[in-house]
Amino acid sequence: MVQVNFSSPDILMVGAGVMGMLSALELAEADQRVLVIDQGRAGLEASWAGGGIISPLYPWRYAPPITALATWSQKAFPDLIASLTDSTGIDSELSANGMLVTATDERDQALAWGAGLSRAVVEISDQEARVLEPHVHLDATPLWMPRVASVRNPRMGQALRQACLNHPKIELREHHEVSLGGDLDDPQAFSGSQRIAAHRIVLSTGAWTGHLLSGLNVRCPIKPMKGQMLLFSPCHLIHRVVLANGRYAIPRADGRIVFGSTLEDVGFQRTPDRDAFESLYASAVRLVPQLATVDIEAQWAGFRPGSPEGMPWIGPISEKLWVNSGHFRNGVVLSPASSRLLCDLMMGRTPIIDPAPYQPRNPV
Ligand SMILES: Cc1cc2nc3c(=O)[nH]c(=O)nc-3n(C[C@H](O)[C@H](O)[C@H](O)COP(=O)(O)OP(=O)(O)OC[C@H]3O[C@@H](n4cnc5c(N)ncnc54)[C@H](O)[C@@H]3O)c2cc1C
Repeated sequence: MVQVNFSSPDILMVGAGVMGMLSALELAEADQRVLVIDQGRAGLEASWAGGGIISPLYPWRYAPPITALATWSQKAFPDLIASLTDSTGIDSELSANGMLVTATDERDQALAWGAGLSRAVVEISDQEARVLEPHVHLDATPLWMPRVASVRNPRMGQALRQACLNHPKIELREHHEVSLGGDLDDPQAFSGSQRIAAHRIVLSTGAWTGHLLSGLNVRCPIKPMKGQMLLFSPCHLIHRVVLANGRYAIPRADGRIVFGSTLEDVGFQRTPDRDAFESLYASAVRLVPQLATVDIEAQWAGFRPGSPEGMPWIGPISEKLWVNSGHFRNGVVLSPASSRLLCDLMMGRTPIIDPAPYQPRNPV
């Protein structure tokens, strides 16, 4: 591990979730010295709490700019995870087994969307679906998304953290909260009473972004949207992601099943609660009846960086202040493209995709 200490980094990355760490690695590869600071331990907020599906849920509901980021990212994931595993020894368990979608009344919309993307969504008979997932209860004729993958996102967070610690151009500082002062032309970042003299600042602060920017009188709609999850003990009852009525079951390599999720607009209220438990449990047992015989190991809550229509902010608010936040329900899947796009823009390179839709909107 390389010990670095930057007193005046090229870039201060505030927030070390998947977005901050992947952005830092991109920028370090572009020869920038990056100081990454997190108020907690890296990778333990939304990036830990989420499910790790490498696709938006119901992707046909989203605007084309989300599909553009997701499509680029989905292609990048296999190489990204392989290189993280090689360089850190931590396997994020990328599993490309597809996603079965049942109980949706959006068949025509889904199939039309999928047809434009080399049959990303196709019809499948009940019989074929039962062969794929014999323990899943089919409410209606299902749809099949053969190319959807998932990662074990807590492991991806650990691997990214280790990759940042290993990188000679990155310093990672944990358990230090950053506050902002000054104004948009000359924003200043502080850790306690210490001012951090960075050339540019990036906010990859997830659900906290709107709150942080309000200190600079910037109007930003990014806010916490709580999501609760259940974890079932190893049972090997399913082998691919299954989505029904807005809820999903994700198998892990060791046979555990993550089941989610709620969507709650309650601010930073972190405690998991009984109502959510009962509602998630009922949905889980309806989808996979045999889960009624399986122990539950954990229930937790996390804060998605909620934004209108799930559209992230990726780009500059001013010359010195940049953002890569607001990916709402899709931050894991969108992280490779969002981080590369941010880096392209910061380095003055030709961007991988048109950045206009993600440009911070009416911030002042
Ligand atoms: C229940 C649930 C299920 C989900 N499922 C999926 C899924 O299946 N697929 C998918 O793609 N996405 C999913 N998501 C969404 C995804 O997890 C998020 O969009 C993504 O993790 C956001 O990453 P981030 O790095 O922006 O935020 P975070 O991971 O929250 O990181 C932000 C970091 O900023 C730090 N920070 C904040 N303020 C400060 C400050 N002032 N100073 C220093 N540090 C600060 C925080 O401590 C935190 O570590 C899910 C989310 C939840 C909650």
